[in-house]
Amino acid sequence: MLKPFTYRALPHHVVFGPGRITEARDIVHSFGCSNALVLSGPNQRAAAERLYRLLGERAVGIFSDAAMHTPVEVTEAALELCEELVADSVVSIGGGSTIGLGKAVALNTGMPHLAIPTTYAGSEVTSVLGQTRDGAKTTERRDEILPNAVIYDVELTLSLPPRLSAASGLNAMAHAVEALYAKDGNPIVSLMAEEGLRAFADALPRIVAAPHDLEGRTNAQYGAWLCGMALGATSMALHHKLCHVLGGAFDLPHAETHAIILPHALAFNVVAAPEAVARVARALDVEDAASGLYALAASLDVPLALKAIGMPADGIDQAASLAIKDPYWNPRPLDLDAIRGLLARAYEGSPPEG
Ligand code: NAD
Repeated sequence: MLKPFTYRALPHHVVFGPGRITEARDIVHSFGCSNALVLSGPNQRAAAERLYRLLGERAVGIFSDAAMHTPVEVTEAALELCEELVADSVVSIGGGSTIGLGKAVALNTGMPHLAIPTTYAGSEVTSVLGQTRDGAKTTERRDEILPNAVIYDVELTLSLPPRLSAASGLNAMAHAVEALYAKDGNPIVSLMAEEGLRAFADALPRIVAAPHDLEGRTNAQYGAWLCGMALGATSMALHHKLCHVLGGAFDLPHAETHAIILPHALAFNVVAAPEAVARVARALDVEDAASGLYALAASLDVPLALKAIGMPADGIDQAASLAIKDPYWNPRPLDLDAIRGLLARAYEGSPPEG
């Protein structure tokens, strides 16, 4: 039976399709702006320069120092450049790190923000911003943080290496999995989440086998949009808490950490969220959702063990305590021993257990 729910749609404008980066200029024009600052990370400088040329007289400069977890010093440097160049809008091109910078600049200035994602992280359709100051991360959720428009141009994702594509896709799938059992979930978001999981289950093996498979890449971007919307509409639970703790305490890479933790967090929640788990299994076309996710990750050649991505062995107890100390709501109540066991399995890369 349907449980009572609240549904609140986030207003966003999405342009989806190959080659549609060429519409960036018209979108900036539709904002009523003519001085856009292009944002990217250092590795995406070439993509930013191409975008700058496409924007023509509507662009005033490029800032290409975006960094993971939106450090406030980087945002301050971008804000100084905005002032110097009299920018009136921002266009971010890159992964979640660059889009996070675009959100921070837009929030500080009130300028419109066009986001052009090149990974599957999903930040472009959420009103959430995580920022770091002196290594400490804070997260806020406000309507003004949501980018005003998004261009999903599949051609920009072709250069994303297969292993990074797989990890980024599994990161997006984690948003959908947790949206399916979120305390503030609803039937519309569950439809998006299940469809997003299905899209990635199809797309990721194809991308790993053939990174230039345009149909696989398109399905992955469709999945990224759906999973991003699921993330933006609900509150995340144990899985995201563990990833935030691990990322913060040991500086582990974001997407890979999500990819490793997901099967274990889902296995932990199986007893408390059977309907959500059944939907994950249906989307993946497997009998058992947690082992299906683990097998999918193994087949994609992403790291399966936290020890393989830099977690210290003596970090398990510390991470378990941190996860319990200030927990996110979770369908199954947390207990220290069970979380320690979960993390020990994820550390070794062993199969998930409920
Ligand atoms: P990222 O943006 O740091 O990019 C990862 C790496 O991929 C970088 O080295 C980047 O240069 C490279 N890259 C990006 N696109 C590429 C492409 N097309 N070809 C080749 N290389 C490419 O990582 P991410 O996983 O996209 O995002 C992670 C960050 O986003 C984290 O800080 C996370 O907290 C944040 N995030 C925020 C939200 C939100 O809603 N606020 C959602 C998801 C992620």
